[in-house]
Amino acid sequence: MDKKISLLGSTGSIGTQTLEVARMHGFSVCALAAHSNIQLLEEQIREFRPALAAVFDENAARDLKERVRDLPVRVAAGMDGLCQAASMGEADIVCNAVVGMVGLLPTMAAVSAKKDVALANKETLVAGGALVMKAARENGVRILPVDSEHSAIFQCLQGCPRPSAVARLILTASGGPFFGKTREELKQVTPEQALRHPNWSMGAKVTIDSATMMNKGLEILETSWLFNMPVSQIDVVVHRESIVHSMIEYQDYSVLAQLGVPDMRIPIQYALTWPERLPSPVNRLSLTELGTLSFYPPDEQAFPCLGLAKQAARQGGLTPAAMNGANEEAVKLFLSGRIPFLQIPQLVEAAMKRQAAGQPDTPQQVMAADQNARNFVLESVQ
Ligand code: NDP
Ligand code: MG
Repeated sequence: MDKKISLLGSTGSIGTQTLEVARMHGFSVCALAAHSNIQLLEEQIREFRPALAAVFDENAARDLKERVRDLPVRVAAGMDGLCQAASMGEADIVCNAVVGMVGLLPTMAAVSAKKDVALANKETLVAGGALVMKAARENGVRILPVDSEHSAIFQCLQGCPRPSAVARLILTASGGPFFGKTREELKQVTPEQALRHPNWSMGAKVTIDSATMMNKGLEILETSWLFNMPVSQIDVVVHRESIVHSMIEYQDYSVLAQLGVPDMRIPIQYALTWPERLPSPVNRLSLTELGTLSFYPPDEQAFPCLGLAKQAARQGGLTPAAMNGANEEAVKLFLSGRIPFLQIPQLVEAAMKRQAAGQPDTPQQVMAADQNARNFVLESVQ
């Protein structure tokens, strides 16, 4: 199979695994983009020889330009650079694996350039889902899910002739490192403890989101946009082993699940190769070695982010953008030791309450709501 990929966020957890998949199958890479890790980006450029490299940080972009002077690669900087990488003429597919709302404009740029998008950057859909899905429809492109739960649902839906036959989408959640803890016990948890995820090795932001269960909250919104399903028909079940990646329930209560070892290279590869399947480097699933799979209801008392995200989804408009922006800042503050774990949901809730109703018509409106929520969080903890 011949594929040309433009990869945003190439130096991150999803980005490096996407390059492993590309390496294994000999896919070519026409653009790479990152924030500031030019050491790794340079190595990737030397191996994959893209025509364009984009670096968000302007100083780092200048340094990279010097480092790769001997190569025929163009170096672009800032948001403009990211959007150029997202709309490269020769790309068959754009993989957006940057972390955070900063991924929204590049996603929109890819869609406007009529590129299919393999989307890991869930914040794009949480904050700007209405705009992204509308633009995708108008441009006739696909948003192919990389997130494992959404890939699972997408896989279970293959061959489903009538979307209206689906009654419920059931997202599985690992429960994270603090499964079973009470609110009282969560008061004292540290960033080090929160970064120890039981099943997945991921970037810091999504790992903290898993510990607060905001990750599952964001995924409810992501599910709702990707599969055009109201939040009332999306359920969450805690599944400790992360083997069942999600399920769909049909009207006749037949349930389809997708299973596999917890390894992001499966959903990454499926998003890149859909509708084809290729051999994959991951381990085979052995059910007899596992023996038991366990399921529990989520604890919304101890993990209020889940309820907040559902509320944001029901309110719609700009509330999810405010929720997401507040969460991104609150997670940074927690990681730097400036706020306790339980203050994350408190700040998110307060930022949501301040957000006025209103439907966004432009990405700029989404970004303004995001910025207001971030400012509010930063001012609240001074
Ligand atoms: P990482 O923190 O590991 O990597 C983030 C990547 O984004 C890095 O390449 C980083 O560059 C880049 N980046 C950050 N900010 C910018 C910016 N302003 N401009 C350009 N590039 C930027 O994150 P993950 O790979 O874990 O996650 C990426 C996305 O995928 C997130 O939305 C996450 O929720 C989602 N996801 C991740 C999963 C996982 O297993 N990791 C699973 C499912 C979804 P640099 O290195 O230079 O800072
Ligand atoms: Mg996920």
